[in-house]
Amino acid sequence: MAKYKHLVPPQDGSKITVKSGSLVVPNDPIIPYIEGDGTGPDIWKASVRVFDAAVRKVFGGSKRVVWMEVLAGEKAFQRTGEWLPEDTLKAIREYVVAIKGPLTTPVGGGIRSLNVALRQVLDLYACVRPVRYFQGVASPVKEPSKLNVVIFRENTEDVYAGIEWKAKSKEAVEVIQYLNKKRKTDIRADSGIGIKPMSAFNSKRLVRRAIQFALDKKRRSVTLVHKGNIMKFTEGAFKEWGYELAAKEFKGRVVTEDEVGRKHGGKAPEGMVVIKDRIADSMFQQVLLRPNEYDVIATPNLNGDYLSDACAAQVGGLGMAPGSNIGDKAAVFEATHGTAPKYANLDKINPGSVILSGCMMFEHLGWDGVSTAIQAAISKAIDQKTVTYDLARGMQDAREVKCSEFGDAIIRNL
Ligand code: NAP
Repeated sequence: MAKYKHLVPPQDGSKITVKSGSLVVPNDPIIPYIEGDGTGPDIWKASVRVFDAAVRKVFGGSKRVVWMEVLAGEKAFQRTGEWLPEDTLKAIREYVVAIKGPLTTPVGGGIRSLNVALRQVLDLYACVRPVRYFQGVASPVKEPSKLNVVIFRENTEDVYAGIEWKAKSKEAVEVIQYLNKKRKTDIRADSGIGIKPMSAFNSKRLVRRAIQFALDKKRRSVTLVHKGNIMKFTEGAFKEWGYELAAKEFKGRVVTEDEVGRKHGGKAPEGMVVIKDRIADSMFQQVLLRPNEYDVIATPNLNGDYLSDACAAQVGGLGMAPGSNIGDKAAVFEATHGTAPKYANLDKINPGSVILSGCMMFEHLGWDGVSTAIQAAISKAIDQKTVTYDLARGMQDAREVKCSEFGDAIIRNL
């Protein structure tokens, strides 16, 4: 067991372990949680009641989660003087699966973002965001239910790697001089510089995870979204590496879109996942104009960031947008929204995003029934028009309820 400075692990419960790349989940897994800042505590209180009620309902007492609070963000800083204590990182490594609320980004604390730090330190290389529609939620498009995608976004590199220098800084000047002199480029002297590294290793492990997910969940296709027509050796290479990996590691289980046309009369063979690719700008049109042609999406960091928010907006916004950051050794499930500080402690905000992140977490544990039960109960609460302010805003005759009461409504509907 890891040695902790402040943290005291629970007396009961057992550890989740990883064996040959798969999770081994006991009946009483210990799961660390970070409550989050701002509206985080309100959301967590509502969410954890839903999780426990759903697990009880589905397993009738034979399984349960033993929750263990770990600190990050403002609460951690107040109690330990650190924004992201080493204890927290150790606990997530040791217990393998964790869930978190939103965290305030410290200003001038030497940490760019706690979320980015968590992803980098724990090597959580895949940001996974499912986007689906719940009937009754107001949406800006006519047929929001046609969009049902799971976006796998590379989480560790691309222009988000944080390798950048301010215009006229010593580093920027050095890089510009080198490139202009040695590589005969023509970069203006007053340019800021950012580096876009994209490796075969990181691209392939992301695409591997996306294809495996599509096969496990019997999804129809994986679309590689890239901007390779312009950025050939980064985004273009992402696409090439994706196809290469699919052909080599998933032979007989996947087929390319091109092969579907040439060899299979335009219809994918039963049980095979179709691998296709789209250029990023075109993809933003495609998800609006032909949403039901897409299923699992694998994409580099920047494209994925934009695309997941655009897709979330299409089905009704941030309050219902779950996410996760997954690596080979650990996974952290989290809401995609921030701390919404103006609603802190008002018991007002929509807990849906963290609750749906919990659904993803239960699926990750192999407890799919719990996820299905919670999603069905959320649908019923929305059908009954018992919803938080954000959903009520776009619905006729809705009964606006508090954050905790939305949790109660979901539990009643389980
Ligand atoms: P935000 O917290 O996401 O809030 C922006 C707006 O989105 C809210 O005012 C609210 O809109 C709506 N919203 C967010 N969560 C909602 C929910 N659960 N239910 C209903 N509506 C919701 O973004 P921000 O104000 O830009 O960021 C605040 C802080 O959060 C910053 O410190 C930022 O760095 C941090 N942040 C953390 C994460 C993370 O931990 N993953 C992610 C993003 C930002 P209305 O005002 O229209 O009601």
